[in-house]
Amino acid sequence: MTEPKKEARATQIDPAQIDQDTGEVLGGRKVLVSALKRTADLLEVLGEEGFRANAYRGAARSLEGVSTELPELAGREFRGIPKVGPGIAAELTKYAQTGIFEPLREIEEQIPPGVLTLFRVRGLGPKKIRALWDAGVISLQTLWEAAQDGRLAGLKGFGAKSASTLSDAAEFALASQARQFMNVGRSLGERLRDWLGALEPRVSGELRRGLDTVGTLRLTVTGTAEQVVAALTGHLEALEAVPGKPLVTGHLDGLAVEVGYAEPQARGAIDLTFGGGAQYRHAVRARARELGLELNGRGLRRGDGPGAERLSVPTEADALRELGLEYVPPEYREDEHLALELGLNMHGLPGEDELIAVRNMRGLLHTHSTWSDGAASIADMAREAARLDFAGDGESYLGTGDHSGAAHYANGLDASRLRQQLKEVRELQRAGLSILAGTEVDILDDGSLDYPDELLAELDYVVASVHSGFTQDSARQTERLMKAASHPLITILGHPTGRLLLRRPAYPFDLEAVLAVCEARGTVVEINASPYRLDLDWRVALRWRERLTFAINTDAHTPGGLGEVWPGVTVARKSALRPAQVVNTLTRAQMLDFVAAQRRARQG
Ligand SMILES: [Zn+2]
Ligand SMILES: [Zn+2]
Repeated sequence: MTEPKKEARATQIDPAQIDQDTGEVLGGRKVLVSALKRTADLLEVLGEEGFRANAYRGAARSLEGVSTELPELAGREFRGIPKVGPGIAAELTKYAQTGIFEPLREIEEQIPPGVLTLFRVRGLGPKKIRALWDAGVISLQTLWEAAQDGRLAGLKGFGAKSASTLSDAAEFALASQARQFMNVGRSLGERLRDWLGALEPRVSGELRRGLDTVGTLRLTVTGTAEQVVAALTGHLEALEAVPGKPLVTGHLDGLAVEVGYAEPQARGAIDLTFGGGAQYRHAVRARARELGLELNGRGLRRGDGPGAERLSVPTEADALRELGLEYVPPEYREDEHLALELGLNMHGLPGEDELIAVRNMRGLLHTHSTWSDGAASIADMAREAARLDFAGDGESYLGTGDHSGAAHYANGLDASRLRQQLKEVRELQRAGLSILAGTEVDILDDGSLDYPDELLAELDYVVASVHSGFTQDSARQTERLMKAASHPLITILGHPTGRLLLRRPAYPFDLEAVLAVCEARGTVVEINASPYRLDLDWRVALRWRERLTFAINTDAHTPGGLGEVWPGVTVARKSALRPAQVVNTLTRAQMLDFVAAQRRARQG
C-alpha cells in the first residue's frame, strides 16, 4: 500500500443528509435528530460531558420517537415534546426557519476541522476522538501515521487489533475524501458548463463515463487558455493554465477541475483522449501510432516537428474515423470493459441505443412512505410516479416498499400495520391509482425474513434487505444472505452489499456465492439508485450481466426522490444492460406475471 495522499480540502458529506448507520437518506424531522446527536457528540469531544451533552442526546432520542412530522412540530415551535426543554425548542425552531443549527455551528468552530474528519472513520466515537486529539492525532493523515508507527497501539483504550482496524478505516476515509457523489459531480459539472457557455463546453472524463463517484471534474471546450481562465475567474480556486499542456486546472467545492481546450480543427482529438479511462486513452493513442499518427490533446498529426501534417478532426467521430475505430459509448471506456477483451470495439456489447435508458423505466419499486420513514403518503407518491411517466405511455406505477418491524429506527411496520397498509393500497388501487403493494422486509440475523410467509405471499412483490448485523463474520454473513436470497417469496435482493459510497465498504461476505444463489433461484438483484449507495456495483453487474435479472430502484423517501432514477440507470448502462434485463421496464401487469412465474418456478 502506498502512502495515502495528503488531505485535500473537501467537505463532501453533509452529516445531516444520510444516516451514518443505515445509509438511508434523511429528510424532515430526521435531519434535526441528526443535528442534535452531532451536537451531543461534539460536546463530548470538547470534554463537556454531563448535563449539556445529555440534554441534546435525550432530545434527539425523544424527537426520533415522536410520530408527528416536521411542519406540525415547527408550527407549534417544538413545544410539548418530552425531554425537549424550552432552550432546545427555541434552537430547533430557529433551525427549522433558517437551516442553521446555531449551537452546532458554535461548537464546530472550537474543534480543528481535521479532528472533525475523524468522525468519518468507522469505529471512532466522540470519546476515542477526544483521546486521539489529546495524543496529537488531528487529521486522517496523522491517524494513519499513528497507526503505522505503533503510537496508536500504545494509546490507552486502543491496542494492536483496534490500531490495525483503524488503519484500514483511515485509509478508506482518506481515499474517499477527495471524491464526490455522482449527483454532486453532475450539478458541479452543470455549473462549470454554464460558466464556460460561450466555448461549446462538453462534460468529459468521469462525469461523461458515468463513474459512480467523481474525483476530477473534466470538461472540454473550443478556445484558448486565456478564454477559459477569463470564463472561470472568480468561480474557481487555484485557477491556473498549465504550462506546456492544453489544460486549465483549479478547484471547485473541494474537487479538482480540469478543462481541456482545443482549436476547432482539433476538438475531436481532445474529446476522444481527455474523456476515456487510462487504458482506453492509452489504447487509442497506441492505435494512432500503429497508423503512423500522433494523437494527443493538441490534435491528430502525421509526422513530427514543424513539417507535421495536422489532420482536421472537429468532432470525436472524425477522430475515430481517421483511426478506423468504432464508436464506443463513453460508459464502456473503462479499464474493466477493456479487460473483457472488448478492446477498442464493441465485440457484441449492446450499442448506445440498445442500452437501458431513463425512458424505459415504468415501475418505481422499493419506495418509502410516511408509514415508515418516508415524507409523503402512498397516494402522493403514486400520483408523482404517474406524473413522471418516463416511458411516455401512461404505464408508470409506484411500488411501495416500507420497512419492516426490525427496522424500528425507521418506524418499520409490524405485521398488523403491514396488513392495514395493504388494505389502504388495495383501496387506492380501486380508486384508480397504479400501485403495487410491496415491502422492504429486513433480513434478520439468521437469514430469515421479518414477516411470516403467509403475509409475504399476499404482497405483490417483496424486496428483502440487510440493515443490521453488519459485523457478522464473512461465513455467517454469506450464509445469511444465501438463505434470504433463496427464500420462496423474495422478489428482489435490496442493496446487496450494504456499502455506502465514500463512507463505508461492503460488509464482509462472499458476494459471488450469493449472486449464484440469485441466479439459481431467479431472485432479482437490485441496483439501488441512491447516489450514496449505487449498490450493486457496476463492475460486478457487468460481470454478471448475462446471468441475472436486475432492478433499478430509487429507494425514494420523498416524491422528488422518485424522479432520481438516472444514477441507477447510469450504473446499469455501465453494466451493459438492455431494458429486457431490468424488471422496472415491465408494466404493472407484466410485473405481476413476472412475480407469479418466479414464485411458481421455485415450487417446482
Ligand atoms: Zn434499505
Ligand atoms: Zn429502502
